[in-house]
Amino acid sequence: MTTKDNTPTLGVIIPCYNEKDVLQLTIEALCRFFEEWQAKKLIAKDSFVLFVDDGSSDDTWEQIERVHAQDSRFRGLKLAHNVGHQNALFAGLVEGHTVADCVVSMDADLQDDVSVIEQFLARFAEGNDIVYGVREDRQSDSWFKRTTAQGFYRFIDWLGVETVYNHADYRLMSKRAVETLCAHPERNLFLRGIVPSLGFQATEVTYTRHERQAGESKYPLRKMIALAWDGVTSFSVRPIKLLFLLSLFMLIVSVGFVGYALYQRYEGETMDGWTSLMMSIWFIGGLQLFGIGLIGEYIGKIYQEVKRRPRYVVEKIRE
Ligand code: UDP
Ligand code: MG
Repeated sequence: MTTKDNTPTLGVIIPCYNEKDVLQLTIEALCRFFEEWQAKKLIAKDSFVLFVDDGSSDDTWEQIERVHAQDSRFRGLKLAHNVGHQNALFAGLVEGHTVADCVVSMDADLQDDVSVIEQFLARFAEGNDIVYGVREDRQSDSWFKRTTAQGFYRFIDWLGVETVYNHADYRLMSKRAVETLCAHPERNLFLRGIVPSLGFQATEVTYTRHERQAGESKYPLRKMIALAWDGVTSFSVRPIKLLFLLSLFMLIVSVGFVGYALYQRYEGETMDGWTSLMMSIWFIGGLQLFGIGLIGEYIGKIYQEVKRRPRYVVEKIRE
């Protein structure tokens, strides 16, 4: 809905899961920036914020309804149950992009520097369909999170998955980029892998990531590992190929072992073979289990994909 003077309508999409402690701060910050950007004619009057309540059990939704009643620029989408950050964000993009020229996805906790959206909009005006927010450093993260995250980015890069280094989900996308994203039917969402594969003209803007402004992280280690695992197995079949190479290597080793065992028997020292026998039983048994487990993981993915279940269920909309 570009207005006559080409000012774009911006939609800011924010997934929220039990964010009662920080939501008011986020609303105030966005209110201030919206006023500023509208005054500078960077965004159109009908620009909006869309909060996606990802099945919160606290009063996040009540807060969203309250602000919506006061200020219709704040909209809400309530999902019937918790589907996780990636799916909630996807729901917001699907619902929000139809009435916007570009959308920015960000977290509810103000870790992403909101003022940077101004630079996103400038890059968008220059003709970029995707603008990635890239973290300057990871000083605001704990040592553990920093090391594991960077290790993960290197690992996934080595696996051949194209991602943007130090970029989480703080990004601007044009309407047509989101339309293309919506055409992806996969259920195991790893947006950081899918978005670069869309192929639109893209650029990066660096920013400093702050500490969470209030409340606690909704991404415990369990969810971080699940996301990393989805990233690997949804995008790369290299683990299966590595397994194949490993099994070839094992074949060569076992041929050597057979030769050794026969030689031992010839020498009349078969009693000594007990150790090596036990070792091979354990090692090959373990390897087989690993292989079955890994293949099972991919079959599990196929199983989820073929069901074509809806990614999320919308319970209420405030627009
Ligand atoms: N989030 C969500 N559903 C979930 C977990 C998280 O919508 O199941 C949202 C959360 O409300 C926040 C964003 O995802 O807006 C990122 O979460 P968080 O800031 O807790 O992660 P961290 O920054 O600690 O990695
Ligand atoms: Mg956060």
